[in-house]
Amino acid sequence: MMSDAAERKNVAILYADVERSALGIRSRVAEEINGKTILRRTVERLQRAEQLREIIVFCPEEQIRRIQPLVEGMDVEIIGLQEPVSTSPYVRRRKWGLNCWRGGIREATVFDEQSFTAEMVLRLREREVYTAVAVPAEAILVDPQLIDGLIAHHHKNGSAMRFTFTQAAPGLAGCAYRLDLLHELVQTYTSIGTLLYYDPDSPHMDYIMQECNFRAAKELCVSPWRYLADTARSFGHLNRLGENLNGQLESGQAGQFAARMQERIWEADALPRELEIEINREPSLRIQGYPHGLGARGEGQGASRMGLALFEKIVSDCMAFDDICITIGGFGEPLVHSDLPEMIEAAKRAGILGINIETDGLALEGELAEALAESKADVISVYVDANSRELYEQVKGRDCFEQVEGNLEAFIDKVSDHGPMVIPHLVKTRETMGEMEAFYGRWLDRCGAAVIVGYNDYAGQIKDKAIMDMCPPQRYPCSRLYRTLTILADGNATICSQDFTGQQIIGNIKEKSISELWQSEKMNQLRLTHQEKTFHTNAFCAKCKEWHR
Ligand code: SF4
Repeated sequence: MMSDAAERKNVAILYADVERSALGIRSRVAEEINGKTILRRTVERLQRAEQLREIIVFCPEEQIRRIQPLVEGMDVEIIGLQEPVSTSPYVRRRKWGLNCWRGGIREATVFDEQSFTAEMVLRLREREVYTAVAVPAEAILVDPQLIDGLIAHHHKNGSAMRFTFTQAAPGLAGCAYRLDLLHELVQTYTSIGTLLYYDPDSPHMDYIMQECNFRAAKELCVSPWRYLADTARSFGHLNRLGENLNGQLESGQAGQFAARMQERIWEADALPRELEIEINREPSLRIQGYPHGLGARGEGQGASRMGLALFEKIVSDCMAFDDICITIGGFGEPLVHSDLPEMIEAAKRAGILGINIETDGLALEGELAEALAESKADVISVYVDANSRELYEQVKGRDCFEQVEGNLEAFIDKVSDHGPMVIPHLVKTRETMGEMEAFYGRWLDRCGAAVIVGYNDYAGQIKDKAIMDMCPPQRYPCSRLYRTLTILADGNATICSQDFTGQQIIGNIKEKSISELWQSEKMNQLRLTHQEKTFHTNAFCAKCKEWHR
């Protein structure tokens, strides 16, 4: 390895824990792909970067003996840490956006998944490190040229740049931190994502447009994969990629990997990444314009409440993968289901990564609010949809704004730093647009996040109140067919969440596994029509405006 042109000490830093990954799930750093451990593969790729003077692997002190054999004979320094390194609090925000460099709640980035500690900074200071390029230990395809380009770009303007990142897909590069910035982030318990996030109170030009973005090739930025061997799903993808490339994982370039992965873009995995589960059909004010009640699916048709046992069956069907996120919502109000707290516990026990509860907020009070505040749910999404009593009544048809507002305020006070994130939502329509800005500012200040979502007319089944059609000019296959499975309260799985009347059932979870439903003939047939761009053959897809979201 050579020193960089600026003669500053640039090192790569990795954190390896053989028990727990940065996402908080089982670690795979000691597991093998094509006969070589994950950590060894990552270090090998980094050793080809010419601008790195050293590669430092941090690990818990008590794991040094387990880490050493993984990088035996390699030019790498292992530093055992006395202080524990906890899971980054930003991981919760990333759970729904693992495949993008930036995505998830409050636009968290892949860089936010990593934790740094004062002890790490101290060890780097002792070694007179100027810039630390943080790379996940599972980045087995990290591109040495991208790393060199990132470092060279980082030093282009002398000492003016405090951090440099790329928009390449997760795992193909890293983030370069000047050591003084890393120190500040640790001291203030923040992460790089908080700098990159647009805050209306301190407006700045998006950092994507600024010098600190080292522009990677477009095909690397739009590649919708997680090139990190940390989840069962992404580990499987990279393992298969290794087989297809005849073991060329060591020497290949990021562009080659992205091109190979692109060939598999319309292949469904064994299990969906997300599940939308309706646990009951009691009316909710959450969905504007939805014809509430059993009538929407025919009076008396199917069960109106999912039992705990059936819910447990659903989540245990997902245990083969550790990156699955569920949204409990559908077309009913989940907060009036008496088993909701037990369902959240069952989902966590089964290894569900992310849990989001969607509610109108009317029942977010009393003992249930206490239980939810203490629960392992990641997100409570409250559809407020207004910032005033008048608009609320106009939009929802009921005079309950003050009740929802009061519940929400009290709930936010109850939730600790480790409790669920509370996210008020507003559906953007011609009616709500006037209060949108005030709504967003208010809740962003109050709970750190607020979401404005586009209006959905459920494939033309309810009145269209959207401000404009947001569909891109050219239609492409619907990504939901490869990402999300929807299960209704009676156990029926349907093609997608547009089907609230249950007209396009693909089977019932009481008779089939999630995997069987996801890979069923009916789902595959629909995927094929999308690949062939014959969208009109399905009555819902023909009229749908949600295919691009
Ligand atoms: S195009 Fe619309 S209706 Fe069809 S699967 Fe996608 S979201 Fe559902």
